[in-house]
Amino acid sequence: MTNYEDLFKKVIAHCKEYGFVFQSSEIYDGLSASYDYGPNGIELKNNIKDYWWKSMVNINENIVGLDAAIFMHPNTWKASGHVDAFNDPLIDNKDSKKRYRADTLLENYISKIEAKIEKDCLKAAKRFGQAFDRKKFVSTNKRVLARQAEINNLNEKIHTHISSGNLSAIKSLIEDLDIKCPVSGTSNWTDVRQFNLMFKTQIGAAKSADLYLRPETAQGIFVNFLNVQKTSRMKIPFGVAQVGKAFRNEIIARQFIFRMREFEQMEMQFFVRPGEEIKWYEYWKNTRMKWHKSLKMGNENYRFHDHENLAHYANAASDIEFKFPFGFKELEGIHSRTAFDLKSHQKYSGKKLMYFDQEINKSYTPYVVETSIGLDRMFLAVLTNSLCEEEVGNGEMRTVLKIPPLLSPLKAAILPLTKKDGMPEKARKIMQDLQIDFNCQYEEKDSIGKRYRRQDAIGTPFCVTIDHQSLEDNTVTIRDRDTMIQKRVSATSLRSIISEKVNFAKYLY
Ligand code: ATP
Repeated sequence: MTNYEDLFKKVIAHCKEYGFVFQSSEIYDGLSASYDYGPNGIELKNNIKDYWWKSMVNINENIVGLDAAIFMHPNTWKASGHVDAFNDPLIDNKDSKKRYRADTLLENYISKIEAKIEKDCLKAAKRFGQAFDRKKFVSTNKRVLARQAEINNLNEKIHTHISSGNLSAIKSLIEDLDIKCPVSGTSNWTDVRQFNLMFKTQIGAAKSADLYLRPETAQGIFVNFLNVQKTSRMKIPFGVAQVGKAFRNEIIARQFIFRMREFEQMEMQFFVRPGEEIKWYEYWKNTRMKWHKSLKMGNENYRFHDHENLAHYANAASDIEFKFPFGFKELEGIHSRTAFDLKSHQKYSGKKLMYFDQEINKSYTPYVVETSIGLDRMFLAVLTNSLCEEEVGNGEMRTVLKIPPLLSPLKAAILPLTKKDGMPEKARKIMQDLQIDFNCQYEEKDSIGKRYRRQDAIGTPFCVTIDHQSLEDNTVTIRDRDTMIQKRVSATSLRSIISEKVNFAKYLY
């Protein structure tokens, strides 16, 4: 088993054992790519949501919130282009009967060439030592240049074939590159077909038009553009933010909660003057990257991936990628969506979606810059980055989730040393005092050591122990999750010590 498979298996097992994530309908053997969030999972998820909402809505005077319905008028999806173009090209291997996204098979092939370039660089770095100049090496080394040229050539072909919908050319490319099914090892492929990712359903008993479960939350914002702008008296530039479920009938939904069929998005659509969209696109790219880095999960774990193949509605797009155990993958997308959506809804609905800009005395259809992050992917990023096992002396190991304390499900565990001599009563009092501000847990079962381990495993930043001395002088010991250092402090100072670590203001960029 590779290191990554090993870590990933541990994360999944940990999620189940400690009530973060369960397989959906597990007693019926589960439903693939659907997951339920347990008691600790929902706290972590809510904390991520809360941090995003505060950073986007509460501290920006020109961003307001919305909660639109999941069901929308069917014309919404014709206008947005999803009925015609929200497709993935799929291909089956006739021997293994496994189904793949044709573009993913090609992208994986490219990733292998990229990995070879990395290997070349590592080797050269070893050979040249301190004098190694990566930039120079990749721009002059013949072998690397040839590999890069192959990548560029393939990217161009993929882009051309996908954007022109030339499915037989995509199949030929897979055959020419001799890409094999990882399960059967053969290249006995079916033709490539388009597959629409939207889930269809019907409303009520009468025969009516098909409804779709929304595949993105953004359209709820576009159709409400004027409702929100007028009622909140927003002036351009302004944004509308929304958190909610989205549904996509993904061809292959693997990698735990990385790719699900039902997931949650946190999106913000920022309306700007035409011609100013690229300035705002750059602004949001940087602002969102700062947000991620503010959580201190390692700056080296993030990178931008600017798109060369743009969606039909975009004039610029970039992903913020995170280093998951299975490599750098998209965590958030920042897209300059032009005026495509508003103009299209205008056309399909016959209603004007224009804005009168008093400053320049002009009416126009605003341009839009979107930031779109998957809540479940963010959850997975936090968990995979935080889970570690470390030695704590005497050969003993502990499993600890080093979650950014702001996001931890619990902020403090309140632990009476024993169940007698008035310690539980004192601990309960401290708990009552703290739980108004912080999510805390009272625990009296098992030895203190065992209780520490349980709290480490769910990422609680502080353990507060109440002992005999506490009854006499109102002091307690507070143990830090990461350093394991214990300090004796006055119970009255607990609020400010905990707040210092979990306060929103401490994180914000
Ligand atoms: P991908 O290329 O991984 O399919 P995408 O480019 O289609 O993603 P967007 O449409 O830009 O994704 O959606 C915005 C965000 O929503 C993504 O960055 C991701 O975090 C999240 N997301 C998209 N699809 C899924 C899914 N099936 N499961 C979980 N999260 C998802």
